Amino acid sequence: MSTRFQVSNKKADLHVPTLEEAAKVLEKGLKNNFENVSVSVVDCPDLTQKPFNLSSPGICGNERLADVGGPPYLVPQYNKDKIYDVGKVSEEVGLPGAFVIGAGAGPWPLVGVNSEMICNVKLGKNGQPTVNNTYIAKVGEKDGKCQQMQIKDSTEFCLMANLLCSEGKQGKVLQVKASKRTGPENFMSSLRKTLDSHYENKSVALGGVFLVETGKATLHIMPDFSKVPLKSDGEVDEWLQYFEMDAPLVCLGELVSRDVNLDLRTEHFHCFSDHGQGGHYHYDTTPDTVSYRGYFTIPHSVYRLDQPKSNISM
Ligand SMILES: [Zn+2]
Repeated sequence: MSTRFQVSNKKADLHVPTLEEAAKVLEKGLKNNFENVSVSVVDCPDLTQKPFNLSSPGICGNERLADVGGPPYLVPQYNKDKIYDVGKVSEEVGLPGAFVIGAGAGPWPLVGVNSEMICNVKLGKNGQPTVNNTYIAKVGEKDGKCQQMQIKDSTEFCLMANLLCSEGKQGKVLQVKASKRTGPENFMSSLRKTLDSHYENKSVALGGVFLVETGKATLHIMPDFSKVPLKSDGEVDEWLQYFEMDAPLVCLGELVSRDVNLDLRTEHFHCFSDHGQGGHYHYDTTPDTVSYRGYFTIPHSVYRLDQPKSNISM
């Protein structure tokens, strides 16, 4: 049932500043959008503990990104062949047994409908999960509300994903705290645009986890596949369903400051929670009361797997 990746899989090396340098750059830049900012280099906390509930204690060790498929496989009608497996991704990026977190589309053959995937799985060397706290978020067929479900036994996903792969070890990471938003950028874009303006023609990535600790955020959930073809970004946007969701939200994913001619998605984080809410992070809706806390590594490379031929943003 799984798609074979095309032979055109590509890899690009990314610029890797020291954590200390990145901390200084980010602390300065985030102040353009947040009143209270603190960025430091810390020992990664045990991320298996609440409120994170990740499948491995850390996000360190041979960190690399996988950008798989993409939104073009969703339009004008979804591509039924685009079914992937996190275990195969870990092999493709040269890190079997990886801890993999991030944002993608859920496995419709298992879930029954299209959904958001919040990937959170520690793999064994055989590609099978040893700890799997992956969730999906879907739109309830009857009530139209968010339904979050844990996926224990499968590592399949569909269409697209942006994943951080690491050995899942604890080590030095960036801790980013920001609260009271004073500018127009969301937390994720503020991080990315800060890196982009400082490092200019070099591409720097961050991967990891951030919490929306207080406040509310707008998330989207892809509903089941559209019965009519989606012919434009506008029609995709109309089809997506947006929800305001409550903190605390645990958001997993990655960003790259700029594309490196691989048609990379430059920002992608998906959230899950203890209170049944989850989906694709867009922005907070409570600038005065919002607070964020994140832990990030700086991956050294990105692998582009099964890159679509056409291009659509989403
Ligand atoms: Zn998404």
